[in-house]
Amino acid sequence: MNRMKRKKPPAAAVQAPVAVGQLVEADVVGIGHDGEGVGRTRDGYTLFIRGALPGEKVLARVEHVKKQYGYAALAQVQVQGADRVEPPCPIYAECGGCQLQHLSYEAQLRWKRQLVVDALERIGKLTVQGSGAAGAGADGGSEAQAGGVTVHPTLGMAEPWRYRNKAQVPIGQEQGGLVGGFYAQGTHRIIDMDDCLIQHEKNDDVVRKVKRVAGELGIRAYDEGTGRGLLRHVVVKVGFRTGDVMIVLVTNGEKIQRVDELLGLLREEIPGVKSIVQNINTVQTNVIFGDRTVVLWGEEYIRDYIGDVQFAISARSFYQVNPVQTEVLYGKALDYAGLTGGETVIDAYCGIGTISLFLARQAGHVYGVEIVRDAIADARRNAELNELSSRVTFEAGPAEEVIPAWRRQGVSADVIVVDPPRKGCDAALLSTIGEMAPRRVVYVSCNPATLARDLRVLEDAGYRTVEVQPVDMFPHTVHVESVALLVWNGK
Ligand code: SAH
Repeated sequence: MNRMKRKKPPAAAVQAPVAVGQLVEADVVGIGHDGEGVGRTRDGYTLFIRGALPGEKVLARVEHVKKQYGYAALAQVQVQGADRVEPPCPIYAECGGCQLQHLSYEAQLRWKRQLVVDALERIGKLTVQGSGAAGAGADGGSEAQAGGVTVHPTLGMAEPWRYRNKAQVPIGQEQGGLVGGFYAQGTHRIIDMDDCLIQHEKNDDVVRKVKRVAGELGIRAYDEGTGRGLLRHVVVKVGFRTGDVMIVLVTNGEKIQRVDELLGLLREEIPGVKSIVQNINTVQTNVIFGDRTVVLWGEEYIRDYIGDVQFAISARSFYQVNPVQTEVLYGKALDYAGLTGGETVIDAYCGIGTISLFLARQAGHVYGVEIVRDAIADARRNAELNELSSRVTFEAGPAEEVIPAWRRQGVSADVIVVDPPRKGCDAALLSTIGEMAPRRVVYVSCNPATLARDLRVLEDAGYRTVEVQPVDMFPHTVHVESVALLVWNGK
């Protein structure tokens, strides 16, 4: 291999065959976890190239090199891949909120399934049915296949745009008035945006109006540098089914000048507005919310539905951002739970009780556990709202401690559902599940790597992973959600 000779190698010289600033040719062979094209140079060096796609030959400008791999920006597509499409959003490249708009939606769905398959095979050491790598050869492999995990095609959206029910927009000041949109990648400079194609139209409309009306009343945007100015963020939530709108003004201080005029104008201009809330955050931080929330006008909550379950959504409560696909995901979870009406179900990491309540009507009793106290308060309120209080029990605390305590109190579960954060389930929880040995485990996951890791632990504890269904909750982004069904095999 020809290595370039440099006169003065830097102290920590890397042995990469390319240098920063150099234009190199690369063949793109895959998509990385952040949506970048994975390229190979002629020397076999790996370059992560933003904007490049599998099957393409590209010219890329090297930006950063390490020993084993480097990063580069796409300079020119020499041979275009079959799945490349024109990103419909005019600010796609600057924004960074989406990573896959240049890849056709069908290809995004295929890629998301493949990520799950790869994780199950490499990390979970599971055999995936119909997957080339997993040994299930042509015809004779039927025995092996029967034992393998089925990974279904990703369930995508018929219309994969305008799916978000929540917008969180940083506000800045320019000569013409207030701007709001997103931070230019890698900076804290706010770029104005009026239209986001993955946002519900109503959210975009509300953000535009708040910027204009607040600007006209002379309300100044918060300045991160000086710590002065008032309006930091505008957060808008909309109920897809109800049309309810909540506006949250995050301010650097209590007093909003001309607040009555502001509220009057917003109510006049925004149909469906049910709640206008102020959250006060005076700390110089990039955390959006402060501790104090006050209702300026209207109600403390807006309402929305997932399936026929109603939810009250407050300014601070967590609620799934894609309600259409949430219904698809929970429908799958319900299906996998295989309920007939009398079962005891445990819903670990239950948040505001979304899955618990979704399952409660078909089960005997559902126990939900969640570490955030406020979320449990919301879950209980939601149970009341749906007249399901007698069928559910919610408790705040770490799932890995609360579930063993329930077990000691004699609770035995027919089905355990888990929906952990990205880091996956706590090891103690997995061993408790193994000991409780419910007939079925339904694992809802937002991270295929930790899903695969945990499935391996559960397999070793006596479970068999039957099938995995990826569901596209976040079209045009690299996020991959899936739900897995495990059944007790015994040991
Ligand atoms: N199932 C819910 C929320 C899933 S998000 C829904 O679909 O809406 C994961 C949740 O796990 C978060 O609400 C987080 O607060 C909670 N969590 C994180 N660690 C936990 C732990 N050790 N025990 C219980 N809950 C935990």
